[in-house]
Amino acid sequence: MHPTPLKKITRVRLPGKRPSELWDITTQDGRIASVDAHDTGASGLDHGETLDGSNRLIAPSLCHAHIHLDKCFLLQDPKYDDLQIKSGDFKEAMKMTSIAKARFEEEDLMRRGSQLIEESIQHGVTAMRAFVEVDGVVQLKCLDAGLNLREKYKEKCDIQICAFAQLPLFSGKDNGVEVRKLMEAAATNKNVDVLGSTPYVEDDECKSKDNVRWISALALRKKKYLDLHLDYFLEEDKQPLVWDVLQILKDHDWMKAGGKQITLGHCTRLIRFRDEEWNRLKQEIGEFAVSFVGLPTSDLFMMRSPDSVRGTLPIVKLIKQYGFDAAIAINNIGNAFTPQGNCDPLGIAQLGVGLYQAPTTDDVQLLYEAVSSRAKAVIGHEPTSLGFEPGEPADFVLFDSMDSGWRCRRSIAEVVYDAGSVRQTVYRGRSTTTCS
Ligand SMILES: [Zn+2]
Repeated sequence: MHPTPLKKITRVRLPGKRPSELWDITTQDGRIASVDAHDTGASGLDHGETLDGSNRLIAPSLCHAHIHLDKCFLLQDPKYDDLQIKSGDFKEAMKMTSIAKARFEEEDLMRRGSQLIEESIQHGVTAMRAFVEVDGVVQLKCLDAGLNLREKYKEKCDIQICAFAQLPLFSGKDNGVEVRKLMEAAATNKNVDVLGSTPYVEDDECKSKDNVRWISALALRKKKYLDLHLDYFLEEDKQPLVWDVLQILKDHDWMKAGGKQITLGHCTRLIRFRDEEWNRLKQEIGEFAVSFVGLPTSDLFMMRSPDSVRGTLPIVKLIKQYGFDAAIAINNIGNAFTPQGNCDPLGIAQLGVGLYQAPTTDDVQLLYEAVSSRAKAVIGHEPTSLGFEPGEPADFVLFDSMDSGWRCRRSIAEVVYDAGSVRQTVYRGRSTTTCS
């Protein structure tokens, strides 16, 4: 059973307004109907249809632009107790995950996936792009569990499912024949929203390009979003594939052919770009709806270069200086690719303050957007802005408890610096968490 829709949320603080001012928000059909100064004279409204904001800060809800649903909590689940990190490198993470994948069953996929979704909703998430792997080991098992979870939580969270080829499409023992066959089958499912692959796992550059050409053609034909794990290395002498990706989109005549949004994750090699390369990239993207997702917790942990450089896409600079569409996301929870972190997107925004040296009011607002409205926009989900415009989705998160006194968050800056752990989430005008 899902909760009754709220008609009104009263006595809330709004981002960008004076902390002393309180506001009332009315909602209709899951959208913002009006935002007005709090009416102190209003009589007690019907229980269940009105939410007392109790001076709490309300903000647009959060979004995972990129999260792996099937391989979460492998380090915590007793079923995988024997698989603990020994060296911490990429090779080990691939090996550990492939051993774990051979043991995946519907029961633990649903159990671990539900845990991730429920913890995320507690943190204020109402939308996510969830990656589930498709290959000869798991066949369509992860995809089926992902689709079941999408259905199970549809009243609480919009879960986009990305059928994802982590393994090669053109290399390996059968040159990727089986993975391609399974991906084609996945692409026929109308509830699969996105197709994704990892071109850098192919044996050579030629096959990496084949990977991009094949998956993008399939996404175009089936009218799906395309999401690539791209250029996940740091070596300067190795060339990035992003230029070829753009050329392939041109070859497909992507825009005229009705192609949907393209999202590129990781892209750590791009940190070596100089000004002229960023400008050229912006120019070559042109009218293509190409956006970037930085995955800093994974990138910092996993990417090692011979010169000890650490690197992750400079998302704040990409947005402010070059005008790219970009967001940041968690990527992995509790596995050998990223053992640290939790399901709270604001943990990544908080990390961003130091990582991108972005502490000003404008910077932190941008960091908040990078896990909220910008994250939703890069996955093609309708965002709610910090301006709370009537007509926007009534997807919100309230911070702190109703009686938290002076130690409560009054601004977006305070939330990004230290979000606290108590939240209340509203999705399409319905409260999806209990108020505390
Ligand atoms: Zn990923």
